[in-house]
Amino acid sequence: MRGAVLHGPRDVRFEERDAPTIIKPTDAIVRMAGTCVCGSDLWDYRGINAVTQPKPMGHEYCGIVEEVGRAVTSIKPGQFVIGSFFASDNTCPNCRAGYQSGCQHREFIGDAQAPLLRVPLADGTLVATPDVPAGDLIPSLLALSDVMGTAWFAADAANVKPGKTVAVVGDGAVGLLGVLSAKQKGAERIIAMSRHDSRQKLAHEFGATDIVSARGDAGVARIKDLTDGIGADSVLECVGTQESMMQAIRSTRAGGYGGYVGVPHGVKLDGAELFYAHVYLHGGPAPVRRYLPELIDLVRERRINPGKVFDLTLPLDQVAEGYRAMDERRAIKTLLRP
Ligand SMILES: [Zn+2]
Repeated sequence: MRGAVLHGPRDVRFEERDAPTIIKPTDAIVRMAGTCVCGSDLWDYRGINAVTQPKPMGHEYCGIVEEVGRAVTSIKPGQFVIGSFFASDNTCPNCRAGYQSGCQHREFIGDAQAPLLRVPLADGTLVATPDVPAGDLIPSLLALSDVMGTAWFAADAANVKPGKTVAVVGDGAVGLLGVLSAKQKGAERIIAMSRHDSRQKLAHEFGATDIVSARGDAGVARIKDLTDGIGADSVLECVGTQESMMQAIRSTRAGGYGGYVGVPHGVKLDGAELFYAHVYLHGGPAPVRRYLPELIDLVRERRINPGKVFDLTLPLDQVAEGYRAMDERRAIKTLLRP
């Protein structure tokens, strides 16, 4: 089969790779209905994370089970399934506590930009839909695999509740879906921080009530202006830079919550500033598996449409263009059709 392989900065190729096979009896092989490019793939693509050898890419997936190992009991061939970027057993103490992305047996799934994918720990990792979903639901179901699950975790970690004021730092796909998550969780006021017209428009569609285009300390000042000098109850950090992290912490009111899901790159926090901020901080790789059943229901009932973040759809063999478009910010997120 052919799939995406990153050879170095800005060099993604669609090339021959070995088709996956069952290696462990707990594995499943899934035929992709859709896969996509993640904002976090761009850290590798831009050479910020060094790529020392050709690296298969992709960690977001949904599709039809082709084959399962002999120890797999709940997942069956023919089912439509969605899973997280971390495979998990869903039985260890960390999983039972709702932190499947911290599973004692977790395995990162990093080769999903291909027609077929091996998913380890299939029973614990995959969630099957009750029937094979309508084709138009595929983008939204695919989004649950990471970007929407991650945004939902950011909102959960930031303790978003009905009636609250929420600020979202970052207008990438996760930030935009952070707006959707805050809306779904009943936030009254949702301030999206964005300086791009098309993204501001989508933020409004997803439920943003205010847009702040200023960044850094000027952005913090604007959030304070909008909240009587207090700051937001909940702030979602969806970027992972020093500036975005400080923007999030400083935009949060005393006693408020910051949920951070941008993968930190070079972020350093000052103990004294944190001490005096009185802010709850929680984040990390999202335990997407915890949220899948609930989010799958919301999509199937057509109450949320997170697939709207895909503003570019390409056949999988044009994966290189999919990366380029996101790198150049011509696309928010690229869906790839095998
Ligand atoms: Zn576990």
